[in-house]
Amino acid sequence: MQRDWGSRDGEFVEMNSTVRARLVALAGADGSHVCVPLQGSGTFSVEAMLGTVVPRAGKLLVLVNGAYGRRMVEMALTMGRSVDALEWAEDEPVDPDVLGRRLSADTSVTHVAVVHCETTSGILNPLVEVAEVAAAHGRPLLVDAMSSFGALPVDVRTAPFAALAASSNKCLEGVPGMGFVLVERELLAGCQGNAHSLSLDLHAQWRGFEGNGQWRFTPPTHVVAALSQALDEHAAEGGVRGRGARYARNHRVLVEGMEALGFTCLLPRQVQAPVITTFLTPADPRFGFDRFYEGLSARGFVIYPGKLTVASSFRIGCIGRVGEVEMRAAVEAVRAVLAEMGVTDCSPARRGA
Ligand SMILES: *Cc1c(COP(=O)(O)O)cnc(C)c1O
Repeated sequence: MQRDWGSRDGEFVEMNSTVRARLVALAGADGSHVCVPLQGSGTFSVEAMLGTVVPRAGKLLVLVNGAYGRRMVEMALTMGRSVDALEWAEDEPVDPDVLGRRLSADTSVTHVAVVHCETTSGILNPLVEVAEVAAAHGRPLLVDAMSSFGALPVDVRTAPFAALAASSNKCLEGVPGMGFVLVERELLAGCQGNAHSLSLDLHAQWRGFEGNGQWRFTPPTHVVAALSQALDEHAAEGGVRGRGARYARNHRVLVEGMEALGFTCLLPRQVQAPVITTFLTPADPRFGFDRFYEGLSARGFVIYPGKLTVASSFRIGCIGRVGEVEMRAAVEAVRAVLAEMGVTDCSPARRGA
């Protein structure tokens, strides 16, 4: 990132093309898909994916069990696409059987969208089963894999997806500033004129790369350079398997430590992804999220507020350049801040109370 890359220069073009190829390979999609990077945060890429792949006369069905699924519905509405949602509670995975019944009954649906790991709660949706159902019904599947790609296995040969969006800065551990969409080449070739937006048109963006290897508009050169380095480090850690194993250890250390302090996780173990963990807020009136947050922040640990509608909660991430040592230190900091607040009982309020 310290180097001033020339955005139209051969060396940058070469690095960019290598990064694109490596991202496709991470999903086992070398033969079938292309990687189209896009400036902006991950949301821009999800919006570009929906706008480019779903034709204007198409109809999108979104599987919703959290804020990111709801955001895809909002995007489709904003761009004037027909959209419907199948909804589940935020602590329940989406159900492929319900999807199958809907697709059998409703022939107006042309495309299906799902979030792999719903970061709202940290829940893991059954991507392989959803992909199998969509494929069996001949509907292209669009995946938001923002918070899973690079750490949880996603393989187009077992989870056939038409398009999948992710970004530079989550499990790939690059810096923020770009997303990318892996799209089936043949499908994308037929997407000219679909997009509702000039700059979020993945077909036009792809034609640019195919033409001269360059980004259509000023590329985030520093972000691409950082992602190139991040992919080297990802490979050195053992790729998806190695990275996923470290996050799983982080998650285990965190949950064991927090449970020992008396906290309760929102999700049952079998549906929890090792990416971000939701803990229920202690009922003790001496516990206040803002004080908790400030106390942890002062000790060097920054956490997330809850994003749930079903229960009062907060979230702690397990991803990024952190390991067991840092996770233990985080639990220790939680213990210290609880003592400072005078909280002795971390059990949550009864659900629904
Ligand atoms: C982070 C995230 C996004 C995109 O968020 P940005 O803030 O736009 O980068 C989208 N979907 C999921 C599931 C995410 O975790």
